[in-house]
Formats: sequence, structure tokens, C-alpha cells
Amino acid sequence: MDYPNVQLLIDGKWRPAASGKTIPVLNPATEEVVGTVAHAGKADLDEALAAAEKGFKAWRQVSAYERSKVMRKAADLMRERADKIATIMTIEQGKVLAEAKLETMTSADIIDWFAEEGRRAYGRLIPARIPGVYQMTFKEPVGPVAAFTPWNFPINQVVKKMAAALASGCSVIVKAPEETPASPAELIRAFVDAGVPAGVVNLVYGVPSEISEYLIPHPTIRKISFTGSTKVGKDLAAMAGLHMKRVTMELGGHAPVIVFDDADIEQAAKIMVGAKYRNAGQVCIAPTRFLVQEGVYDKFVKHFVDGSKAITVGNGLDTDNKMGALANDRRITAIETMIQDAVGHGAKVATGGNRIGNKGYFFEPTVVTDVPKSARAMNEEPFGPLALISPFSKFDDAAEEANRLPFGLASYAFTKSAKTATAIGAAVEAGMMSINSFALALTETPFGGMKDSGYGSEGGSEGLDAYFNTKFITQTGV
Ligand code: NAD
Repeated sequence: MDYPNVQLLIDGKWRPAASGKTIPVLNPATEEVVGTVAHAGKADLDEALAAAEKGFKAWRQVSAYERSKVMRKAADLMRERADKIATIMTIEQGKVLAEAKLETMTSADIIDWFAEEGRRAYGRLIPARIPGVYQMTFKEPVGPVAAFTPWNFPINQVVKKMAAALASGCSVIVKAPEETPASPAELIRAFVDAGVPAGVVNLVYGVPSEISEYLIPHPTIRKISFTGSTKVGKDLAAMAGLHMKRVTMELGGHAPVIVFDDADIEQAAKIMVGAKYRNAGQVCIAPTRFLVQEGVYDKFVKHFVDGSKAITVGNGLDTDNKMGALANDRRITAIETMIQDAVGHGAKVATGGNRIGNKGYFFEPTVVTDVPKSARAMNEEPFGPLALISPFSKFDDAAEEANRLPFGLASYAFTKSAKTATAIGAAVEAGMMSINSFALALTETPFGGMKDSGYGSEGGSEGLDAYFNTKFITQTGV
């Protein structure tokens, strides 16, 4: 299949950058250049800003009922085109085809859900103190949005922002990832083909810092949504704060998994092996720090290691493989360095630990046990196929370790005791906890973090509220 050369979308037109500049796109499974993506400069951004301004004026006048029809058509187009789009995603990102297809199909569900939720964005009537007075709140779209999205879920990271923005009546400029540009462009194409008016959705690529530094302070932009690392998120949030812009930040995590003595150990290991190696571990809610109670430690390690060894790694286009290439060579370097450092601190490699071959960014599913807290991997997000397992003795020890880091995104616990489940849910400082399952990130449920993992939510009704201003009107009869 031919990989497309990706263009910008500005004011309803697909076009190259004004300068003609492009950036090469690599297939991480082969390290070959498969295509190019247009590299926007300031002139392109100015046009995108003008288009977003115009698009917002038009789109906010369209009723939520009519907006939902266009959005649902885009969702249907994503379903129709899913095989082609998933193949493009695997070529540019490395994940296995089944995951790319699931991500594409899920995007359609997300669009449908926000399209319907937009129709239920109610204001309220507040009882007045005096007869004849009406006190009303309205939800108004916040305005043109600048959305910055990363390469790990090229479609999912865009659709959560875009569907909520469009459902609420906002226009959007998406700065999608330069390393995985074509599959998000197909998402945008579905909206264009479904009949979203020109200027409502705009798509740019380029130098991320140049684009964010230009768009965030710009008076046209009223809302910033970013998914990526905590470091970059803090910089962008600071810039947004300086210009008083609304912000949603989905940042890094370092999810603890607390396995208690009374858990179904085989089941816990099986669920967590699937969750750990999904997208080769390049997931902000990936289970990372496994804290296993002493009585079941050896048993859990054995099952988890056996499960890890059974993961077949190779080109994501080959449907026999369960884990594809890492998305870029930075991840290979990061994982290698973290493993060496952990071993240097006395940790043991129970399985894996090495890059596979020297062409394509493949890495073995890796389990490291008895990792001291001082090791880098216990403090920085690995963002790769690396599981860290350590024992704990008492409930309070596990809770303390879970909360030790500044991150607070996802967390997991396994126990058969309702009392322990309730207690651990209350004790862990995280935006999300999944107990006895891996059931986070459904479109109808909130998705977001606390502490250094950011603020705001991208799922559930909270995800839509992030794109509304509340207006209060009090009206006295004349
Ligand atoms: P990075 O931090 O430079 O980039 C992460 C993402 O942010 C990329 O999509 C990039 O284009 C974007 N970005 C970077 N600087 C930006 C800026 N100034 N303005 C706007 N966007 C900007 O580095 P990376 O090597 O791509 O990833 C490193 C780490 O980022 C990972 O190890 C992981 O911890 C984190 N990350 C998190 C997520 C997530 O889903 N939360 C996704 C990707 C990366």
C-alpha cells in the first residue's frame, strides 16, 4: 500500500506549506522513509488562525442537533475506511494492525458519543429571590482551540480533543505529530468529507515549539489542549497562564499496580501483561511499578514473566505479532539506558532486556525485579515495554510507594476484598484507578490526572465541559 504524502488543511483546503518545506516520515519497523509531511511556517499559521476565527463564527451558529449529524457522518466514514487507515497507522507508528484498527474504530465511537453529548449540554435555571426574575446559565463554546497531540495514539489523541471541541461549537487548529502524520490526517479528512464547514477544522505540522509559541499567545486562540510529557506540558501551561487561556493537560504517568495477597494472581498477571505491552508500552496509563505483596510475589513474577515471554514481537503488519516496533529510536535509547541503570542499582532482569536486531526499533518485552527506588526507571516514565516488579509487606507501604512520585494519572489494584478495594481506591493519589481490571479510557468515563500528570479531563461529560464557558444571565421583567 502507498503511504500518502501529508498536507496541511487550512480553511477547508488541503495544501502544501507556503514555503514548500516538508519533513520525512519513517516506518519504525524498517527505518525506511515512507513519505513526507508538510512543514507549516508563520504564514500558514496566520491563515489557519484566520480560518479558525471564521470557522468558529459559523460553527457556533449551527445547532447542536445539526452539528451532531455532521459528526456522526464523520464517524461512519471512519468505520468505512478503517482498514486503510489502520494500515497507514501501523506503517508510520509501528503498533500492530489489530491495535491500529481498534484505535480507528474507537475514534468513531468517541465522535458519536460527543456528538450526542453536545445535544445534552444543558444550562440551568436558578431560583430567584424576587418574583419575575429569571436567573439562567448557558454553556457557550469557549472559542477557537489549539490542540497539540503526540505520536503514541495518532488518532485517539486528536479525536478526544476534536470531537469535544466540535460538539460544543468550537473550531480547532490541530498540531498533529510529525512522526505519525497520515492517520490523524485521515481522521480530519473524514470530518471534511462529512461536511464540516471550511475553517472549523485546521491541521498543521512543523516545529512543535515554534507552533505552540505562536498559537498559544495569539488572541484568536481561547483554549489549549495538550497531551505529552510533563516537562513540555508545564512549559505550555505556563505560557497559557500568562495569556489567561483555558487549558487541558494530559501528561506523563508512572502507574502503580498494587497486587494484594488475596488477589487472583494468574488473572492479575494475564490482564497486566496485555496492558503492559499494548502499543509496546508507549501509553501514558501503562502499568509500570508493580508492587506485589510478599506472600504472592514469586507466583506473580513467574506468571508475569511467562506471559511476557509469550509476546511475539515483529512488524505490526504481520498479524502473527502481538507487539510491534517502538515508534522512534529515542524510545530504544531510553529503555536501554533505564535497564542498564536499574541493573547498576542491583535490580535483576527476569526476562528480555535487549533490542531485537539492528533494523527497526524492536525491543524485547522486559521484566526487571527487585528494583531499588533510586533507579531512574522507578522515577521517570519508561514509556516502553519495561515492567518493574518489587515486593511490599503492608498496605500502608504500598500506598506510600504508589504516592511517592509526583505523577498521578492511572493506577491499578488487584484484591478480592471489598474492604481493601475501597481503602486502596481512597488512598492512591491518581486521577484514575482500575480495580481487578484494565478498564480505563472509555469515552463515557473521565480520563485525566492530578499532580504532575496534569489537569482537566478528556472523557465523560467533564471532557465536553472543558470546551464551554458558563454564562450567567439574570433577567428582570419589564
Ligand atoms: P517530547 O516531550 O519532546 O514530545 C512529546 C510530544 O509533545 C510530541 O508529540 C511533540 O511533538 C510534542 N511537543 C514537544 N515539545 C512541544 C512544544 N514545545 N510545543 C508543542 N508540542 C510539543 O518527546 P518525545 O520523545 O516525543 O516523548 C518523550 C516523553 O513524552 C515520553 O517518554 C513520554 O513520557 C511523554 N509522552 C507522553 C504521551 C502521553 O500520552 N501522555 C505521549 C507521547 C509522549
